[in-house]
Amino acid sequence: MNQPREERTFVMLKPDGVQRGLIGECLKRFEQRGLKVVALEMFKPSYEQMHEHYPQDKEWIKRLGEKATKTYAEYGLDIERDFGTTDELEMGRQVRTWLIDYMTSAPLVRMVVEGVHAVDMVRKIIGPTLPYMADMGTLRGDYSIDSPAVSTPEKRAVMNLAHASETQEEAAHEIKHWFGDNPPVFEYDRI
Ligand code: AMP
Repeated sequence: MNQPREERTFVMLKPDGVQRGLIGECLKRFEQRGLKVVALEMFKPSYEQMHEHYPQDKEWIKRLGEKATKTYAEYGLDIERDFGTTDELEMGRQVRTWLIDYMTSAPLVRMVVEGVHAVDMVRKIIGPTLPYMADMGTLRGDYSIDSPAVSTPEKRAVMNLAHASETQEEAAHEIKHWFGDNPPVFEYDRI
């Protein structure tokens, strides 16, 4: 996509976003900022589809562990007690499994959002991954409070309402993964 105005990103409302009735709130925040929703669908993913959605490289998996390490250190909590290990890759593997269980537990809403710097803009609107760190004014900061410190002892992923692509390359890959080679994207003007 060469036109900055037409940059596209992929967004998926997670089970808590759908089950807490926040579909409209989330769409509203994208639209009021001036972004366009150009594809939109509710669906229930298979375990396999979700497994393929999340990266499988060690670096990405380790990042999930690192996020937990950071929170545990910040609050003086015992990683070994909750994860049974302090190895971030192993911790990340556990989180990835919980994440797929969570993402396949209810219907999701998938969409393509288009507009100026859509990838960065959508992530700014949603806020950082861990809700307890999200500023008020972001979707996560206004509607969620979860942390690895409470999700890990419950053997589940952090619930944070929505997923959004991190880079333009990831967006292209995820749009293709979830909508196929010819995504049902609509063209219209905002007036
Ligand atoms: P993404 O949505 O692409 O950021 O995928 C990573 C997801 O994994 C996050 O959105 C959280 O739901 C979850 N997650 C990330 N780090 C942790 C963690 N340390 N403990 C539990 N869940 C996590």
